Amino acid sequence: MHPATRRALYRRLRSANPRPRSELEYSSPFELLVAVMLSAHTTDKSVNAATRKLFPLANTPRAMLALGIEGVKPYLRPVGLHNAKSRNLIGLCRQLVQHHGGKVPAQRAALEALPGVGRKTASIILNIVFGENAIAVDTHIFRVANRTGLAPGKTPLAVEQALAAGTPEEFKRDAHHWLLLHGRYVCTARTPACPACIIADLCEYADKTKSGASKERPRPPGASRSRPRTRNRRSAAG
Ligand code: SF4
Repeated sequence: MHPATRRALYRRLRSANPRPRSELEYSSPFELLVAVMLSAHTTDKSVNAATRKLFPLANTPRAMLALGIEGVKPYLRPVGLHNAKSRNLIGLCRQLVQHHGGKVPAQRAALEALPGVGRKTASIILNIVFGENAIAVDTHIFRVANRTGLAPGKTPLAVEQALAAGTPEEFKRDAHHWLLLHGRYVCTARTPACPACIIADLCEYADKTKSGASKERPRPPGASRSRPRTRNRRSAAG
């Protein structure tokens, strides 16, 4: 994709949603870390359903540790893989308490050393909590980057590197959320809503959905009228 087209694409996404935010509900860096860790292989909606009950009981590493694996397990059923996620959650809390004074660390290596935390989760934390320009690549962003021609790559890491190299600085901080929301609600996996897509004229996808063929109801990414209830109270500075 030509750099001028790339810039135009980001401008378009920015004007539709100037302040994109995560749809995960959280009120502290620790809650965000837990929510992102739990969101592997499931939806933000099911994570929010679980954490709405769990966080009022325990929203610090020490309080979570006190619940223990068996104590958190019933709350993690909605997110799937709850046995493994319960073990990871308690292991993560133990490491935070033992090695980081109960705080979420600001270094990628320290984040990725936590149980259940990989590159994607670490990038999201570095971006939202610590203000870094890391662009985490999930399944939606991988699809959008490849379809549009914005940052083609065969693996999430290749796409991440292409995004890092080709995204103008002014868009890097919010690129993750713009592309994620666009993939989740417009450029969906099965039938992308191309006729209603605000970047259709810039997108290089050869197999665009024709008018009248879309079965999905497009929702402008981040549009407030359709946002689910959220208690995401933190600013990007965390
Ligand atoms: S035009 Fe279609 S394929 Fe391209 S970004 Fe929009 S929804 Fe996705």
